[in-house]
Amino acid sequence: DQPLIQIKNLKKYYKVSGRELKAVNDINLDIYKGETIGLVGESGCGKSTAGKTIIRMHEATAGEVLFNGEDIFKLKGRALNKFKKDMQIIFQDPYSSLNPRMTVEEIVGEPLDLHHIVKGKARRDRIVELLELVGLKSEHFSRYPHEFSGGQRQRIGIARALALNPKFIVCDEPISALDVSIQAQVVNLLKDLQDKMGLTYLFIAHDLSMVKYISDRILVMYLGNMVELTDSDSLYNDPLHPYTQALLSSVPIPDPTIKRERIVLEGEVPSPIDPPSGCVFRTRCNRAMELCASSVPEWREVKQGHFTACHLYNNA
Ligand code: SF4
Ligand code: MG
Repeated sequence: DQPLIQIKNLKKYYKVSGRELKAVNDINLDIYKGETIGLVGESGCGKSTAGKTIIRMHEATAGEVLFNGEDIFKLKGRALNKFKKDMQIIFQDPYSSLNPRMTVEEIVGEPLDLHHIVKGKARRDRIVELLELVGLKSEHFSRYPHEFSGGQRQRIGIARALALNPKFIVCDEPISALDVSIQAQVVNLLKDLQDKMGLTYLFIAHDLSMVKYISDRILVMYLGNMVELTDSDSLYNDPLHPYTQALLSSVPIPDPTIKRERIVLEGEVPSPIDPPSGCVFRTRCNRAMELCASSVPEWREVKQGHFTACHLYNNA
């Protein structure tokens, strides 16, 4: 099968006081239809920037993104407009991403209006249908965002993202701002919608606790770089990269018979304007060797379908 999305050597650099900030440094990834890729890393690691560049909300510095085999950075006019409908994003903060002066009808109807999809009664029916799809009611039609809880607001954001029948949705930390009790509800809703509508997701999160339940595969990023990629089970049961091991060691384990040593990440994430030489993780790595300072570890397939960039596996 051809992947729905092929990301090739994707880079997004910014100029900051005359210096180069490598926010996204060489991402390579295929995403298949109906799949959820979890994208995990601490804040500032470039995951949101990567997500937004993939759907062309940001212009890439270099590289390619193919959607159904077509280079999205070359799209213009009608083809670009069609692409923009197929790609949507759900934002982290349901408190700030919804315009407080717009009603639910206006918020969910906005994409329909922008793309001249439907008018009049058909428009109203479509909005009610979208609200029901995300577990809201037609009575909510004329209300304003402040009248809703965080979880309900996120449902409004999801309804808006679904309005144009997208193929691919970047979920940019959609549950991070919500109470733990609400997080599972939103994740379950996203899973149901995926099954119903054949959606493909990039699900961004800053820790590994919830992504397991929604992701088929997980990509871990550090300082703009890919550090590990594999299916969810392998990542949780057999993490290879010391960074992934540290992130996982802080996730509570439901099974009390499994003991996992807590690895505390020392120090701060270095500035992406001035990243460490060699392996970017070496200043915080508990396994760092001399080689790690002088040589950038290669991205390699250590086990079938399990990739990482770390010198510990050079002979694997
Ligand atoms: Fe640690 Fe070296 Fe592996 Fe980087 S390459 S993660 S510093 S062991
Ligand atoms: Mg972010």
